[in-house]
Amino acid sequence: MKFENKVVIITGGTRGIGLATAKAFLKEGAKVVVCGSRKESVDNALNELNNEFPSSTIRGISPLLSSLESVKNEFKKVYDEFKRIDVLINNAGVSDDHHVENYTEELANKIIDINIKGVLFGSLAVIPYMKEAKSGVILNTSSMVSRDGTTGGVMYPTSKFAVNGMTLSLARELAKYNIRVNAVAPGITYTDMMRAVPKEYIEPLISSIPLKRLGQVEDIANAFIFLASEEASYISGQVLHVDGLART
Ligand code: NAD
Repeated sequence: MKFENKVVIITGGTRGIGLATAKAFLKEGAKVVVCGSRKESVDNALNELNNEFPSSTIRGISPLLSSLESVKNEFKKVYDEFKRIDVLINNAGVSDDHHVENYTEELANKIIDINIKGVLFGSLAVIPYMKEAKSGVILNTSSMVSRDGTTGGVMYPTSKFAVNGMTLSLARELAKYNIRVNAVAPGITYTDMMRAVPKEYIEPLISSIPLKRLGQVEDIANAFIFLASEEASYISGQVLHVDGLART
């Protein structure tokens, strides 16, 4: 039990990579708080997690990630209950595939709000607690597209380059408080969204990946577990690519 009594907050924890990561931390004894944008998705995730881990401590919150005040208020409730926040995983994200000429101000703002401001505001909301504890781990979900960009949906890779930049800079700025900051950059990962993609699209995709399979959500969760653990206590400012060596 690597995370017994530790408190872990996961944004975008209600499905996909975030939900798998919540399960991985629960298996390791952590108290887990999942964040989702809607109360209904939080309730569904809590039902699933409570069924699978009936004796664990699990909570759900719905901060508005684009509002620093909202994130601070919701995270304060977590701190008030548990008197600690050990790990924050800034995982919520929205992707996009619009052609650049079809971009609107609204779409650009949506991606910036969730993928960039959300990561910053989550971090700002935990720093005071981690600073006081002289220890903490902040992990961000980046993407394989943060290395090579993509054709289409320009603000998505742009936002993930920003996540990498924030990871490196916050790691430097927060090292003096013994707060480590790293990112995991998933490749194409098999989530609910991928289940709907027809076989004829998936197969060429798989053959283009040197390790010849899609990522599973557990592959990404394992990377988060490692980076949050004591085994990674001398690792900060890294972007760990978990992508089967895929390149966009
Ligand atoms: P998903 O769509 O299954 O989950 C996204 C999560 O983000 C959900 O829990 C959702 O509630 C949350 N979210 C979305 N919009 C939100 C909002 N407005 N406010 C609060 N929360 C919001 O996707 P996923 O594939 O599990 O993605 C998780 C992270 O992994 C994202 O940051 C994504 O960019 C990244 N990623 C995914 C892949 C992949 O292939 N699945 C690849 C690279 C990176």
